[in-house]
Amino acid sequence: MLPSFIRGAARHVLDFVLPARCSACGVIVGEAHSFCADCWTEVAFLGIGGCSTCGLPLQATEADSCAVCLARPPRIARTRAAVAYDEVSRGLAIRLKYGRKVAIAKTMARFMAPLVEQGGERLLVPVPLHRSRLWWRGFNQSALVATELSRRIGIPAAPMVLSRQRRTPPLKGMSASQRRRAVSGAFRVREPAAVRGKTIILVDDVLTTGSTAEACARALKRAGAERVELISWARVVKPSLLMR
Ligand SMILES: [Zn+2]
Ligand SMILES: [Zn+2]
Repeated sequence: MLPSFIRGAARHVLDFVLPARCSACGVIVGEAHSFCADCWTEVAFLGIGGCSTCGLPLQATEADSCAVCLARPPRIARTRAAVAYDEVSRGLAIRLKYGRKVAIAKTMARFMAPLVEQGGERLLVPVPLHRSRLWWRGFNQSALVATELSRRIGIPAAPMVLSRQRRTPPLKGMSASQRRRAVSGAFRVREPAAVRGKTIILVDDVLTTGSTAEACARALKRAGAERVELISWARVVKPSLLMR
């Protein structure tokens, strides 16, 4: 491991040699891992507002938690996403998934980092892929993001503690109960000692219905995790909620 000032210097040399490019459209920009002015206006940043539990925008009548979380507290105690899922954020997620672009993971981590809370013993755990898919693709995109996030915020990342035991079908188009059944028992904690008593922060690239993350949280809690949170790059949000 090189001393950090040498690594920092090496990074500056690279920054000097290669001009920074917009993470979405590729035009040259002034700052690395950022967006150009045009793309910046396209991205819907979600921030830390909204329901204190699920992070979705609140209705005018709701104070701290949304009615859904109050009625039935979810297994994941805190969910946050950097941006809404749209053309731009989807583009980044796809390029990360199929291109192993570490620069993309760095961009995502940059905007996810301010949304992660500190305190107590915490561990970043990426949502795992099944080994057949891992073999096919060669890497887990969420693990790349977890590694970059760990570098930024200093919370250790543990990409191996959770595993996907079986392949799960695409959840798109399924009802809530069908989704639950499809992912039930799909995840297993390989090293319970690594999660026991800790706050686990699940790391995902795109959050859609949350069924997969819920199944991960269930396995982690069973293995002794004290609390489970979730941070993702993009999240599917109903356009009507974004308008408020
Ligand atoms: Zn751009
Ligand atoms: Zn909520």
